[in-house]
Amino acid sequence: MPERKILLNPGPASTTDTVKAAQIVPDICPREKEFGDLMEYVSNSLALIAAPNGGYKAVLFGGSGTAGVEAVLSSVPAEGESVIVINNGAYGKRMCDILKTYSIGFEEYVSSKTEKLDLDDFRAFVGRAVSEKNARYISCVHSETTTGLLNDIGAIGGIAAEFGIKLIVDAMSSFAAVPIDMEEMNISFLIASSNKNIQGMAGVVFVIASDKTLADRDGKKPRSFYLDLYAQHDYFIKTRQTRFTPPVQTLYALKQAVDELKNETVAKRYQRYTESWEELKRGLDSIGLKRLVDDSCHGHIITTVLEPDIPGYSFNDMHDYLYSKGITIYPGKISEGRTFRIANIGAIDRSDIAVFIKELKAYFDSLSD
Ligand SMILES: *Cc1c(COP(=O)(O)O)cnc(C)c1O
Repeated sequence: MPERKILLNPGPASTTDTVKAAQIVPDICPREKEFGDLMEYVSNSLALIAAPNGGYKAVLFGGSGTAGVEAVLSSVPAEGESVIVINNGAYGKRMCDILKTYSIGFEEYVSSKTEKLDLDDFRAFVGRAVSEKNARYISCVHSETTTGLLNDIGAIGGIAAEFGIKLIVDAMSSFAAVPIDMEEMNISFLIASSNKNIQGMAGVVFVIASDKTLADRDGKKPRSFYLDLYAQHDYFIKTRQTRFTPPVQTLYALKQAVDELKNETVAKRYQRYTESWEELKRGLDSIGLKRLVDDSCHGHIITTVLEPDIPGYSFNDMHDYLYSKGITIYPGKISEGRTFRIANIGAIDRSDIAVFIKELKAYFDSLSD
């Protein structure tokens, strides 16, 4: 097996050797029954993670996470319907960019990137958008990977229910770690990918929705050919094949990753990530580094750290030093201040975070020499 690396970038995450090895299989045509069985197993297993009572499917696409968000946003709104988008980070803004590309109407609710969403103010905004702009959907990000802010999707789902509209959630960086129940939280469409908390390889994105929702095309015309959510679902139900060539080996790895997740359970994985995050917080405190996001809405997955004013400090030097030790960190993604990001996801635990903190200290000590 290749050398073990500690990836602290927010996905693709570190994987186990067994997931890496699962990609080495006899060559197979993805139109064979055996492969259809594998995709069906993966689809049902992923759906059960977010909807334990059943009746939901994960519609699989070859592509990165954004392809899944684009599939939902381009397929779901009917002509003349608009979408309310919560923008409190780059991934919320990306939803607006996608809707703009397809000339679909949207109402952008801009909220702080570092503080909790004001639910009362948001509810009033939704009320106006529903009555004046024919808004039929709320679209938001669960864990904003830009900063580490965690939106309260249960409360947002409650607001969607009050107005009888549907909720679309980009759960790319929360799914398979933060417990989610789509029925309880009133989520109609949930999007996640193979390479973050599921701890699989990059290349598969999926949309989870109920069988009923997926069958309800309701005369809507496709806006995209490849990313047509309903066509992808219908074709799979009829043939147990994807419409176009899937990433075959990535799906074998995903099956292995799903089995490892079932073994660990989402609750225990969340506990492992939370322990890593607490180790990280303690370590950052001990070095005197400050975090960006307010504690009231800070997730346990990604942490944005403010860069210190220390003579000689440079993100690139710090990155290169850590990289030489087998640890990968990630730059910041916001205009407010100089930051970098640490994601404690993947097949790592608190002992890896302790190693990272030790090396981070060594880097800062080297500056005062
Ligand atoms: C990773 C991620 C995506 C998808 O990014 P890709 O580069 O297309 O895989 C989308 N939304 C969020 C919140 C993410 O963390």
